[in-house]
Amino acid sequence: MHHVPRERRSPRTDEEIRVPMTARPPLIDGSLEPAHHAGENEERYRAYIELTSDAVWRIEFEAPVPVSLPPEAQVELFYAHARLAECNEAMAQMYGLESAAQLIGARLGDLLPRDDAENVAYLERFVTSGYRLANAESNEIGRDGLPRHFVNNLFGIVRDGQLVRAWGSQRDITELRHAHDRLQQARRMETVGQLAGGIAHEVNNMMSVVLGCSEFVLRRADLDPAVRSDVEEIRQAAERSAAITAQLLAFSRRQMLQPVPLDLNAVVRGAEPALRRALGDAIALELRLAPLRPIRSDRVQLEQVLLNLADNAREAMPGGGRLVIETSDVELGPRDAAAHPEIRLRAGPYALLRVADTGRGMDRETARRVFEPFFTTKGVGKGTGLGLSTVYGVVKQSDGYVWVDSEPGRGAAFRIYLPLTDAELPAPISPPEPRDTPAGQMVLVVDDEPMVRSMAVRALRQAGYLVLEAESGAQALALMERHGAEVRLVLTDITMSEMGGRELGRRLAAQRPDLPVLYMSGYPVDEVVRRGILQEYRPFLQKPFAPDTLLGSVRALLEARAGAG
Ligand code: ADP
Ligand code: MG
Repeated sequence: MHHVPRERRSPRTDEEIRVPMTARPPLIDGSLEPAHHAGENEERYRAYIELTSDAVWRIEFEAPVPVSLPPEAQVELFYAHARLAECNEAMAQMYGLESAAQLIGARLGDLLPRDDAENVAYLERFVTSGYRLANAESNEIGRDGLPRHFVNNLFGIVRDGQLVRAWGSQRDITELRHAHDRLQQARRMETVGQLAGGIAHEVNNMMSVVLGCSEFVLRRADLDPAVRSDVEEIRQAAERSAAITAQLLAFSRRQMLQPVPLDLNAVVRGAEPALRRALGDAIALELRLAPLRPIRSDRVQLEQVLLNLADNAREAMPGGGRLVIETSDVELGPRDAAAHPEIRLRAGPYALLRVADTGRGMDRETARRVFEPFFTTKGVGKGTGLGLSTVYGVVKQSDGYVWVDSEPGRGAAFRIYLPLTDAELPAPISPPEPRDTPAGQMVLVVDDEPMVRSMAVRALRQAGYLVLEAESGAQALALMERHGAEVRLVLTDITMSEMGGRELGRRLAAQRPDLPVLYMSGYPVDEVVRRGILQEYRPFLQKPFAPDTLLGSVRALLEARAGAG
């Protein structure tokens, strides 16, 4: 930054104290009648200062600062000698004080912490700009000990080559900045989610193939043991990849959830044994469950949420501690919406699931980023940074919200809000008794992704089914015209380029209302699907799936149909 040659500015004198006010033309010139005597002027300025919501202040240098010194040296002297000599009530309020008198006398360092390099740079800019700064930002510490952000306008009075005082005004932009940060964070999450979701979808399809083919190889009886153990490794690696992509899909809200009316307390109780195992003996688990109306979510996914939170809690409490899981019935209202301008919060009744630990907690910056995929403070190979992004994705897909409250050394509390519904809980259904594979039955497989399709076809053929395959809805319908009478079940992808699974399902239902259709997908769940129309995609299979999972679903459907008919 260049030094502004100070000689060219006429040095200010004491008499000029009021001049700067008039030097800002719109404020006074022409806006009011000229003042007739000093008393009126005095009153006018006082009114301005008291009425504005900006802070207005005067700082005096107990020992004047020679303007010829280098900027760093001047800043040094500012911290040594500057004191707040005067300020208005608005300024006191900004610092959480009742009256200006409580703030007057404060040292510069109390207001503008010196250990913040940005503040030092800001003061140096004040020097190099010839003691006049407009719209300069500074960071200060509020009375509550939390940082506050200000935008400042200030100028200094130089007499005989020495800076004697400074005048300024400042506006508190802390809330504005927080809202801005949160908005940026929300945008970033959205972008990362799209990117991660796209990659995960591709990887997911490929993993279906890797998993399926490994399975086929492993089923061969004549396999060389060395080859078998290699293929076993391949399958395990593919399973781990599939688990990761499943988490990414959950985060990017592309995973097909099956939201149904659920008793949140029952989910927590059901997960309790697994949670205790995850936490170990050194951590006490306490449940405080209040009676609740049903929520609408996916049980398996919610269990995953609880497990991910418990895993993190355990890692945050290496020396043991306590994890409290609490549910309650709350109402989110306009005040909550105002507190979170970065999202469009829907007011209404919610179930609050609060998971709080007594662990090491986290700082603000960490708390801000915990839900980002791949954000981790754990070492390489220890954390994936996907636990909380999965939590986030599941909560979002259930139309809920999640926030974290934490401070270093004070534990962490995750608050999850899930909308309550008036829906009835479904009656529990008992799974049918497993029977032998009904071989020789005809299944139609429809998917425009050739590798996934051929994997499914192979699995079904190996199990003894007769299989027809189609790469589009249209082709499937053509096949149905010829072989419709023999087809016992249709397995179809939901998103296909020509005719989607939904349209195909509808047409099949018109032709053969009794024909079971098993939907499968890993991609992409648009809002429409997510909101209730998902009922149409039931039964449903999430990609990638192992051949056994596919066979299990197919068998269950055929048996249910046989039982019904
Ligand atoms: P990972 O556990 O793999 O690091 P997560 O998404 O589960 O990924 O968590 C991200 C980060 O959030 C963690 O690395 C940790 O810094 C922080 N974190 C999460 N839960 C807690 C907790 N209960 N207490 C303290 N820090 C936590
Ligand atoms: Mg984790």
